[in-house]
Amino acid sequence: MSANPNIGSHVIEADVVVCGGGVAGTMAAVAAARQGASVVLVERYGFLGGNATAGAVAQFNSWQTGNGRRVVAGLADEVVARLRLYGGARAHESFVMSTGHHMDRVEYAPEVLKLALDDMVAEAGVRPLLHANLLDVECEGRRVVGMRVLTKGGVLRLRAGVLVDASGDMDALKQAGARFLELGDNETLQPATMMFRFGPIDFDRFGALTKAQLAELAARGYAQGQLARAALHSSRDPYSTDGWFNISRLGIDATDPMALGAAEIEGRRQAWKAAWFLTNSVPGCEDGRLRAFATQVGVRETRRVEGDHVLTAEELLKPVQFPDAIAAGAYPIDIHPASGGALHYVPMDADHAYQIPYRSLIPSTLDNALVVGRGISASHEALAAIRVMTISMAVGHAAGIAAAMAARAADAGMGVQVRAVPVPALREALVRGGAVLG
Ligand SMILES: Cc1cc2nc3c(=O)[nH]c(=O)nc-3n(C[C@H](O)[C@H](O)[C@H](O)COP(=O)(O)OP(=O)(O)OC[C@H]3O[C@@H](n4cnc5c(N)ncnc54)[C@H](O)[C@@H]3O)c2cc1C
Repeated sequence: MSANPNIGSHVIEADVVVCGGGVAGTMAAVAAARQGASVVLVERYGFLGGNATAGAVAQFNSWQTGNGRRVVAGLADEVVARLRLYGGARAHESFVMSTGHHMDRVEYAPEVLKLALDDMVAEAGVRPLLHANLLDVECEGRRVVGMRVLTKGGVLRLRAGVLVDASGDMDALKQAGARFLELGDNETLQPATMMFRFGPIDFDRFGALTKAQLAELAARGYAQGQLARAALHSSRDPYSTDGWFNISRLGIDATDPMALGAAEIEGRRQAWKAAWFLTNSVPGCEDGRLRAFATQVGVRETRRVEGDHVLTAEELLKPVQFPDAIAAGAYPIDIHPASGGALHYVPMDADHAYQIPYRSLIPSTLDNALVVGRGISASHEALAAIRVMTISMAVGHAAGIAAAMAARAADAGMGVQVRAVPVPALREALVRGGAVLG
């Protein structure tokens, strides 16, 4: 038997176990711990953030409607405030896209986000279990009882009152035998992207390019086979004259292990070619070189769980007012096709915002599990809007409070039941925490 009490027959118990430390999972863990729950946050890397750090996405999009009405705040605001303490986030900015529609964002330094998330987790009393890969999940009927994770020390067992699956790919719920919505294939799933860091950039000149000039350059790079996507999207690093570029395109099912590995390799090739195109063809980028690849290819879409409610694009566009709304958003439906240079983009009117119901966080086949982030119960088109990190953080915030409430009710002898969470009390707690619900 291992000398380490955490390994072998020893079991780590927690009111709430969050599987996956992306922005959604980290917010869920922090929110649950602040409600007094004991929380373990399982993450396969040695740092938190997921796509936001490992994927180097580098900008939080869509905090407000086109006319400036805030739709995301709460814990997500705190993340930005903490980034700013380290000088790791630029000012919030609004601008008009090449489609003529509004967008807003906060650009940040992915490396600094790791520190900000560490601080939030430590202060809230969350127990982070880093370098831990989910192995399997044990269920009894409709209840998750526990899970095993693979660590450097061997296999570790965890017992959870509530499981929050924040793994993006819904690995935990897959192991728990949950039902999923149709996954799609390489052509219909949103593609993955290998982000890359490039610099130095003369932003006075690069930033002065008009939308028409950028579009012409991007079209030329795509026609020449230098760019996999006819776009020159980038975020500026707050610390330097470097940018993070989002211009590769990899049509894969990222739950297919061989395809995922191949996409990492192809993503680096695409990024390398794109960097040379920048150096050779784009004003302001002549002195720049590729400085870094993201730690991993960024994954936009894989499994989406079947929940008590499946959120649809029609509901977002109407927008439907849900009595159990726990988060809001204004990001448009933004579908990157797996191949070709185009985007499928359904913009929102200037004051348009939509809501996300609590029922979309509840896997239909389980009683003590919740889902956050890009795997929540939504159609492919609806996910194309609600997948952004601002909304992922808002949903994580809500799930964390709900998980803690469910665990607390169980302490009182009722058994953990996420469907029994009193939604008005959940909504009140969110509003007290600064969240916007619609
Ligand atoms: C290329 C790209 C560009 C994007 N651009 C933007 C943008 O400009 N603005 C914006 O706001 N959003 C953007 N998005 C969307 C956004 O980044 C994601 O939808 C969001 O980060 C999802 O967060 P998440 O926490 O649900 O999942 P993820 O970030 O995928 O986090 C999942 C976490 O779980 C961990 N994990 C996974 N499996 C396991 C396992 N088996 N065991 C243990 N841990 C595990 C992962 O390591 C990771 O930390 C973009 C996404 C991509 C891919």
